[in-house]
Amino acid sequence: MGKAMKAFRGGIAAPHNKHTENCATEAMGVPARIIIPMVQHIGAPCAPLVQKGDRVTVGQKIGDNDAFISSPIHASASGTVADVRPILYAGGVEVVSVEIETDGAQETCPDIRPPATDRESLIKAIRESGIVGLGGAGFPTAVKLSPPADKKIDILVLNGAECEPYITSDYREMMENPGGIIEGARIIMELAKIPRALIGIEANKPEAIRLLTDTVKDDPAIDVVTLRTRYPQGGEKQLIYATTGRRVPAGGLPSDIGVLVQNTTTASFIAGFVKTGMPLIKKKVTVDGSAMATPKNVEVLIGTPLKDVFEFCGGFREEPVKIIMGGPMMGVAQFSLDNTVIKQTNALLALGAREVALKPEIVCIKCGRCVSACPMGLLPLYLNACMERGLFERMADDYHVSDCIECGCCSYVCPSARRLVQSIRYGKAELRKLAAKKK
Ligand code: SF4
Ligand code: SF4
Repeated sequence: MGKAMKAFRGGIAAPHNKHTENCATEAMGVPARIIIPMVQHIGAPCAPLVQKGDRVTVGQKIGDNDAFISSPIHASASGTVADVRPILYAGGVEVVSVEIETDGAQETCPDIRPPATDRESLIKAIRESGIVGLGGAGFPTAVKLSPPADKKIDILVLNGAECEPYITSDYREMMENPGGIIEGARIIMELAKIPRALIGIEANKPEAIRLLTDTVKDDPAIDVVTLRTRYPQGGEKQLIYATTGRRVPAGGLPSDIGVLVQNTTTASFIAGFVKTGMPLIKKKVTVDGSAMATPKNVEVLIGTPLKDVFEFCGGFREEPVKIIMGGPMMGVAQFSLDNTVIKQTNALLALGAREVALKPEIVCIKCGRCVSACPMGLLPLYLNACMERGLFERMADDYHVSDCIECGCCSYVCPSARRLVQSIRYGKAELRKLAAKKK
């Protein structure tokens, strides 16, 4: 067993609902159509490099942007570009997307070859691979591998917490490819010159802890750390504190305290990429929820429409009340099954009536439960009150809204069903608008 470390304050003991933990990953075939949005990362959107009628092959780059914080996008199937057009996605954002009519041949792009492994070439190649943080945030990995010269990183933390209910895709990666994760960790350590790595895994995954501990038993530079099972243990700041005892200062970055965080699945992708040179074109996705006929873990080509993934899992056994991409705490509700799997998709949930309780919102009774649950030490009830009065600047100046990680713990515990995290998101959006106006 890995050694146990500190726990963060606050959080919630949400039901795990990890029904698919023993479902080995099944590879899904090639759908008839693939639709690939040009934004699947934090940073500048990509511009399409193909047009209607072009033939594309697997792994071919079809979108890019020269900006430092961006990540190229690749075709996950061979076929013909049927269209390049803006599509409305969840969140109300239109994103230019490349639609590919697949030919089923899965012809590989002739440019695909293993990258050169000297430091400079490999960091460039990792950027070209399109890899981003696969834990959900989608921050370009290559940017993290090149921290500013004045930041000395001495610990790599691999995030294997997977603290959101239902999701088991990282767990399956840990069970099915532990060697790849450790190999990836060693590559990252060498590239970013980091002497030590800690792999944080929640205690509710004893088999993964055992397997990875066994895989690193002869390597004194890498340790597995058993984390308390408590949401949001996988939040970057919570994970860093639990594994290293270090605190990221408010408004600061992990690199300010010498830490680099990567997801376990990001690490194993890098190990595979070094061997094959194949960019990021597929994802392991947990498909679950009480409306699903057969919950599974599925390996899906990026750009696969959600309806094809649900059909692969036997379709719905009841009409879903809500479809979520991601987990129930931080995922994004989907309005169309034509939307597609993207790089950050780690779960698709089709929730039935018994899982979606929409209680009416009533007045705040000042019980303080949201304050106790907030892992960032914020005052969600006051953030909510400011939002309702349109006092957006007070949300930032007096109540530090930018520290909110949108984990949803406050909403989860509120006996008055106040839509706390929703109002915080709304307030943040209004603050962004105000900042843009000031510019
Ligand atoms: S948990 Fe809900 S009712 Fe209690 S203080 Fe917070 S907002 Fe008010
Ligand atoms: S205020 Fe933000 S960080 Fe705190 S519990 Fe609510 S959503 Fe999470």
